[in-house]
Amino acid sequence: MDNSIKNRFPIFVARPGLVYLDSGATALKPDTAIEAVSGYYRDLSANVGRGLYRTAEETSARFETVRERAARFVGADPEEIVFTRNTTEGINLLEYSLADRVTEGDVIVVTALEHHSNFLPWKRLAKRSGTELRIVPFDIEGRLNPDSLREHIDGRTKIFAFSAVSNVLGSVNDVTALIRAAKAINPGIITVVDAAQAAGHMAVDAREWDCDFLALSGHKMYGPTGVGLLYGKTALLRTLEPYQVGGGMILDSTSETPVYMDAPQRFEAGTPDIAAVLGLEAAIGFVEEIGTDAIHSHEIALATKAAKRLTETFGDSIRILGPATRENGIISFTMDGIHPHDIAQVLGERDICIRAGEHCASPLHRELGIPASARASFSVYNTETDIDRLIEGLKGAVNLFKK
Ligand code: PMP
Repeated sequence: MDNSIKNRFPIFVARPGLVYLDSGATALKPDTAIEAVSGYYRDLSANVGRGLYRTAEETSARFETVRERAARFVGADPEEIVFTRNTTEGINLLEYSLADRVTEGDVIVVTALEHHSNFLPWKRLAKRSGTELRIVPFDIEGRLNPDSLREHIDGRTKIFAFSAVSNVLGSVNDVTALIRAAKAINPGIITVVDAAQAAGHMAVDAREWDCDFLALSGHKMYGPTGVGLLYGKTALLRTLEPYQVGGGMILDSTSETPVYMDAPQRFEAGTPDIAAVLGLEAAIGFVEEIGTDAIHSHEIALATKAAKRLTETFGDSIRILGPATRENGIISFTMDGIHPHDIAQVLGERDICIRAGEHCASPLHRELGIPASARASFSVYNTETDIDRLIEGLKGAVNLFKK
């Protein structure tokens, strides 16, 4: 990846020394996404689906164009795409709307890899409905093994929710194989994929994966905050109870039983974050222009080099978590004698941004037997210089805490 990509990110003009290694939390934004957001406020500033004047009609048309573009991006049809705020909202929507599908005696299956956003909603649903929550462990490489699903999924299992990519270990799951294995055990099972760490970094294809639902966040794939996507297979989506009720999703509110619009509008009550949706279109354009394959290999190449340099420099005093070889840009680690928070703070003082803590994945850290970890996540705008700066920063942390 050459420097022209980095030049597309205006933050590096304002902050030339910034070493941003926290794309797992949120990605930086390219010029086109920023312009799309400000362009909406500057040139349109109308609501969607309501007005009969030109700016309103144009805004509505562009909004629906983004739905078409987003649908193609995840291998779906436009009516299968619901705009949400983020992955968390998409999964909470499902928790609410799938509640009438589970009763006492049923089983919900999640995994030990999950981010709290794909764990707590299911835990709450299980508690509320009196269903059993089962947790599939990950293997030594940090992946879910399709062959092991038989031990956890059975005829009583109604929902199986798991992530495509772990936000801590960077391990990439074989989503197609996992869904095939789950459906072979129980053809009626509803599968939910958390694609938050996959989108923008590798191909996301709902059709190929054959999942029933998929959730992602725009801000993790170079788009604005405030917009996410929930994909749902039409046949299922149309039968779900709306999550929120209000304007923009109703056909008849005066009858005894309100009549809602069809999916996806029935899940989009109220004014959406229009600027963010238009920004998301630009982000999709950016990802498609470079290509997910090129992005993925760039991230793997950098994380692989970083892992090598880390072990060469710090030897046995560093423990890199997850797969033996890097599967994406995420690399989490612990260092002997230094708490991850201290590492992140020392680096932060040098404008090197990494993440420390549980990364919203306590079950995973419990499974690994560690209280916390440090995470560097590489993305499209990172370079080898960032690895140098990371190593220098870590040497500084080691020196400081040795004293
Ligand atoms: N799932 C995974 C795997 C994540 O990494 C994240 C964000 N760290 C989320 C869900 C939640 O995303 P958001 O905060 O955008 O809803």
